[in-house]
Amino acid sequence: MANENQRSFLKGAYHIDIIVHGFPGKSVCHGPLGFSTIALVRHRSFTALVDVGGFGQRVILNQRLRELGVSPDEITDVLLTHSHFDHAINWVNFPNANIYISREEMVWALEQPAGETYVPELYMEALEEYHKLVLIEHDDEVLPGIKSLICPGHTPGSTVYVLDTGNCDIVFTGDACKNRAELVSRMADMTYDAHITKKSINDIWGAWSRRDNGILIPGHDLPMVLNNDSIQYIGKHEATIKAWLDDTLNKTTLVSLTP
Ligand SMILES: [Zn+2]
Repeated sequence: MANENQRSFLKGAYHIDIIVHGFPGKSVCHGPLGFSTIALVRHRSFTALVDVGGFGQRVILNQRLRELGVSPDEITDVLLTHSHFDHAINWVNFPNANIYISREEMVWALEQPAGETYVPELYMEALEEYHKLVLIEHDDEVLPGIKSLICPGHTPGSTVYVLDTGNCDIVFTGDACKNRAELVSRMADMTYDAHITKKSINDIWGAWSRRDNGILIPGHDLPMVLNNDSIQYIGKHEATIKAWLDDTLNKTTLVSLTP
């Protein structure tokens, strides 16, 4: 199944497209890259996005949706894994969508002091007022086939969405488990409590390994599949920066972020 450029999965009655692949890195001098995963899940009864990215992903998000023949007003549901800017800002782009976030995350996000965290305060305040906001709890059936698993550690209300396709599970982890290194080590780069994170990552493993051929789609890494206890990436890491390091706009230097 693993294939270098695979972005689409047809599993049972569900069609999943990775709109943007997350990248497992952070900038040394400029804070977070915000290269987070955005996924589209289509079923006869809904057209949903799991996370919607930040400002930097707006153009690529719109372009990829256009390529897939989906217009923003056709998105029926947006499932937010948590409130951080690089996952949540673009909820405003989908005028007809129900927006789901855990109650715990929403309460916590609104308590954060302005200007000090990765929570986009104004976007969360607007979301609290939004008439199609849906606050979810642990183990809710959010959409047909999709259940919520509250996995605190990165943020208190971080939510993992587990899609039961009928013959395998697809687990969208957001930043409850950002990448393969966190998944394997059961530790995280950004956690307010290492023990809570470890329990959450164990819960994620439980959901992922429940059946063969489960696909895990992390917040900042490529999708992975579990086959006979070995983890395989689906796709390959791609991240390159184009820099103007000369005196002309015509000459750019490509700096790859992958070895
Ligand atoms: Zn985050």
